[in-house]
Order: sequence, then C-alpha cells, then structure tokens
Amino acid sequence: MTIPQQRTVRDIAADRLPALLRAMPKAELHIHIEGSLEPELIFALAQRNGVAIPYASVEDLRAAYAFTNLQTFLDIYYAGASVLLKEQDFYDMAWAYLERAAADNVVRTEMFFDPQTHTERGVAMQTVMDGLHRACVDAKARLGVDAELILCFLRHLSEEDAFATLEQALPFRDRFIGVGLDSSELGHPPEKFARVFARCRELGFHLVAHAGEEGPPAYVWSALDVLKVERIDHGVQSTKDAALMKRLAQDRIPLTVCPLSNLKLCVFPDLGQHNLRALLDGGLVATVNSDDPAYFGGYMNQNFTETFAATGLTAQHAWQLAANSFEGSFVDAAAKRAYVDRLNSAFDAFA
Ligand SMILES: [Zn+2]
Repeated sequence: MTIPQQRTVRDIAADRLPALLRAMPKAELHIHIEGSLEPELIFALAQRNGVAIPYASVEDLRAAYAFTNLQTFLDIYYAGASVLLKEQDFYDMAWAYLERAAADNVVRTEMFFDPQTHTERGVAMQTVMDGLHRACVDAKARLGVDAELILCFLRHLSEEDAFATLEQALPFRDRFIGVGLDSSELGHPPEKFARVFARCRELGFHLVAHAGEEGPPAYVWSALDVLKVERIDHGVQSTKDAALMKRLAQDRIPLTVCPLSNLKLCVFPDLGQHNLRALLDGGLVATVNSDDPAYFGGYMNQNFTETFAATGLTAQHAWQLAANSFEGSFVDAAAKRAYVDRLNSAFDAFA
C-alpha cells in the first residue's frame, strides 16, 4: 500500500460545498453495473428483446423500489436484469452509467458485474464480456473515464457454481482485474468461498468482498483473514468492533461505503445517523460510492452532496474521501499520485 497523502484544506462556506463535491475528481470503487439499469432502459430493452416484465409502466416499476432490506431489493434487481440478452444490451447499460460517471467527474471506475445473473438465463459469458468491455474501451477514448471490471460471485449460490463461473470467465481474463462477492449477505459468510478465492489469488486477480453491510463484524474479519481481500465493500458494521477498526486502519484496508444504499436498505434509519464520519475519524480509508444507483436514488455526486448535507462533513472530509478513493483503487502508485495531483489542482482552482 502506498504512503497516504495528506493535505490541510481551508474550510469553505456550506453553500459552496456541493459545487466542490461535484467538481472534484474521484474514483468509484463500488458500483454494480446491473444496478445502474434505469427503469426507462429496462422498458426499452424489454421492448427491443420482446421480454415480458411484471410491471405495467416505468412509473409502476419505480414505485416498486420501496425496499425494506437487502433481499426485497435483490428480488427486483434480478427481475430488472432479465431484459439483458444481447451484447448491445450490456454495452448500452454500461455506457449509460459511464456517461453519468463522467458527468459526476468520476475519472476512474471499477465496475462490478454479476455473470451468474446472466449465464443462468442462458446468456453466454462472451456476450456479457464483449458488451461490457467495449463500453470500457469507449469510455477511455470518448469520455476520459478509466474503467475496469471486477467479476462478482453471487454468494447465495454455491462455491461450486462460483468455480464453474470462474472457469467460463478465464478465456476473458484480460478483461477483468479482480473478483468480488455480492448478493444476499446474511447466512452466506465469506468462508463459504475460501477455496475459489484462494484460486483467484493464485491467478493474480485483485480480491474484494461485500462484508459488514447487514452482516456482523465477524464477516469482515473472515473476508480479511480467510478470503484475504484487499478491500471491504460496505463494512459499515465494523464500528461495532474496536479491534476490527484498529486492524482496518493499521492495514489501510479501504471500505467502499455506499450511503444512499444504506439509507434505502434501512441499514441506518436516516442519513444523519450514518457512520461515515466515525469511519474517517477512526483513520480508515473510507470512500463514497453509489452501489446500485438506479435503485437507490442517486449516482456519485448525489451520494456526496446528500451525505454531506445530512452529516455536516466539511471540505477537509471531501478531500480525504476523494484521496481515499484513489488510494483504494487498483492502479499503480504513479497513477495514484497523478490522480491526487489532479485532486489538489481542483481544490486549488476552487479556492
Ligand atoms: Zn454492493
């Protein structure tokens, strides 16, 4: 891990903070590309592909987004993904997100995708890979967004299934930089996937896992010690365990926190009670991310502006969160420094 960079930032008026949050360059490290599928695109793809979906209109579908926990969200999420059949569908989905990311000054994004959601419906791995990869290549050339892919295993399925998915994905190994673990957390602890993660580690992939979103701090420990992940996705339950907080800070393990997702899935009763400040105060490499923005009411900048408004975080926190996003990204040390230089220039220009 690189030496963290520091900068003391002069406070700015609260009414100018949203503009700073929007203008600063940032990396997004926790975005499920299938979770960026907006109701309008779901309907357009359903029509293009002749797929029937159990919602009468865009409004009807949006109205169903009143989730009470992770599972009620996942049920709709998988229904939405059922309209994705062809290479162009995957491209269109990723491209729509990448355009939004560029508008939010996201300069680096490491996008999760769930191949099992598609292969189990009979969509070929190659179809998924071709569409997503083409969008990443175009993003670099046309939007100036550096986009990479991380393949996620669905943890409610078996480890055997994850191994089979890895096997199908290996012919395309130059198209994804890491593997992750997502979907229903409770009852599916990280150690269920110990062997497949060990294999991915041997193969040289970066490793991440969702842990401590709804699940206990014990899941964060086992993601670190059994799966040997480099980043924890969510991890907000870590504040319940002082020894874990110390470990995360000492080893500079980034947490990819998703405030609007936590709000929508009732992990916190309101945004004002979110523990992002406590994570930063604990010296953790916490970051802000959108998770499943089409479903949770906001992309990157909305996560930043709403969270700052609700919790009273300052310009200093803004710099730290953006710097953390670059430190936590899977680029080399020189690229991290170059991104933080861009961040500093943006702050200089703003002051
Ligand atoms: Zn997630």
